Amino acid sequence: MGDDIDSPRQAGTTRRDALGMAAVLLAGGALSVRAAAPASAAGSDDSCAAHYDAEFESALALGDEEIPDDEDRGLAEYGPPGRCALPLRRHYRITTPYGVRGNWLAGYHTGIDLAVPRGTAVYAVGGGVVVLARWSGAYGNAVTVRMPDGHYAVYAHLSRIGVRKGARIRTGARIGSSGSTGRATGPHLHLEIRARRHYGSDVNPQRYLARRGARLW
Ligand SMILES: [Zn+2]
Repeated sequence: MGDDIDSPRQAGTTRRDALGMAAVLLAGGALSVRAAAPASAAGSDDSCAAHYDAEFESALALGDEEIPDDEDRGLAEYGPPGRCALPLRRHYRITTPYGVRGNWLAGYHTGIDLAVPRGTAVYAVGGGVVVLARWSGAYGNAVTVRMPDGHYAVYAHLSRIGVRKGARIRTGARIGSSGSTGRATGPHLHLEIRARRHYGSDVNPQRYLARRGARLW
């Protein structure tokens, strides 16, 4: 369902289309990647098999544009300014760190994988506006929150989504439950922090959170 990455929706020469085609090529190799269990992610059975997804990116762009920036004003009420919370409140295991080299479109892991049992509560690392909350192909059930500093937090592979697009949420608010939907080899939370909306603008989630008082080690 919704796994459009195997069938490009439109022909064209825009950058997005080019990325889409690249994703198709990537998806074509995803099974062998999974079977080979990338050496860089050795020992991690609960991680991501692929990340880039054209369906996710276009839904995110649409949601982001539908909700104007002025919605972000006054977001101080959504939590202590500049402070983050951890996305999980029970024991987790980092199965694939951020930046690990591998067979992903970006050439490296764009988020961090935190293995937890299916159904574990997932919380917003920062308050903001929900710009995407839906099935998102490779990302599975995903939620994206636009935070007041302009960064985006992506929570992927959820078993359940607990927020709606357009909702304003506080730091630490429950946004859903962990799972293994989309291209995941086992139950885990893929947390990705982007400096801008587009794929490839990611930053190190551990550093981002650490600078804001939350240690994700
Ligand atoms: Zn991941």
